[in-house]
Amino acid sequence: MYMLYMNSDQFAEALERIDTVILPIGMTEAHGHHCPLGTDVIIPRRFLELIEERKGKELIIAPEIPYGHSWSLAPYPGTVDIPHDVFTEYVFHVGKGLAQWGVKKLVLFNGHGGNTPALTHVMERLADMGMTVLLINWWIDYAREILTICAGQGHAGEDETSVVLAIDESLVDMTKANVNWNKAIANVRFPGMQRITMENAQTGDATLASRAKGEAILALCTEKIIELIEKLQADQLIERRG
Ligand SMILES: [Zn+2]
Repeated sequence: MYMLYMNSDQFAEALERIDTVILPIGMTEAHGHHCPLGTDVIIPRRFLELIEERKGKELIIAPEIPYGHSWSLAPYPGTVDIPHDVFTEYVFHVGKGLAQWGVKKLVLFNGHGGNTPALTHVMERLADMGMTVLLINWWIDYAREILTICAGQGHAGEDETSVVLAIDESLVDMTKANVNWNKAIANVRFPGMQRITMENAQTGDATLASRAKGEAILALCTEKIIELIEKLQADQLIERRG
């Protein structure tokens, strides 16, 4: 169920039997010269449509957050970079706002790597308030599976571009796809490094992307994500050994 389309009474009634809300979090930023600025919003949106079709009666999907934090893409046209502290505080208060109405389990469905440090901080603060919070970074959590479909990964690279192609081919201009394997060899920041490490606002080899690969990624990750959300709902996210 989509929270945006429920009225206040329906939301309150739903929370009597549903304790899980998914909060999609994206970013508006340059994705190469070939993918849309909204790539990190559009991909979670599609995953959640697929999840909603199957599990819609058992969870609520909150409205998405379309802006996030991105130092590395900040120099490229179209990126709207929200400072880390402002973004952290904003997402925390969205989570707290949901908690006050009885949401016990929150899934942060993230589409953008630069958001992760802030979201980890948000998770810890919400957990201290009594919530269970699960962070899903689809391209990291299922990297092993994705690499059975793609030769490599990257920002607007082979995997991400393929998923956008699968969602809507008209959103991608493959004639502008690039290759960039530049990489810092240590955890370093210096002025202007984004122009090198994120050359053309892209990493990886986007020229290898295809619609078929994107469809395979969407199908495979959707299955895995549904399994994970079912485990969250059954309180089975800890494995005990020995
Ligand atoms: Zn992206």
